[in-house]
Amino acid sequence: MSDCIFCKIAKGEIPCNKIHEDSEMLAFNDIRPQAPVHVLLIPKKHIKSLLCLEEEDVALIGRLMFKARELAENLGCKDKGARFVINAGQHGGQTVDHLHIHILGGRSLGWPPG
Ligand code: AMP
Ligand code: ZN
Repeated sequence: MSDCIFCKIAKGEIPCNKIHEDSEMLAFNDIRPQAPVHVLLIPKKHIKSLLCLEEEDVALIGRLMFKARELAENLGCKDKGARFVINAGQHGGQTVDHLHIHILGGRSLGWPPG
């Protein structure tokens, strides 16, 4: 999508602090980190939110989740744990309408969310 900030990051039109890239996904540091580890993992394909996921995207989501696990481990979060968050839609607190997984770690995180 031409006016989507995460599509622009995926195409290299907006810079990011890249953690991982392959043909179908990209991971980069969140610009406003909420924890010592705060990485966003996105599909390069524009999917608006998890609530808009189509059946054809099921395998892609599986690979994204597996990569999220791998990144969390590489970022030193395996022993003490991490949080994997997908905000979806207005009530979910989604502010960028391009599906993304937050990988948060490096400190103990509170629950429940606000
Ligand atoms: P959400 O509120 O779940 O939609 O998360 C959007 C996230 O994107 C927020 O944590 C923002 O800090 C982050 N964000 C917005 N713009 C950028 C950017 N240009 N580079 C990196 N992270 C960004
Ligand atoms: Zn997009």
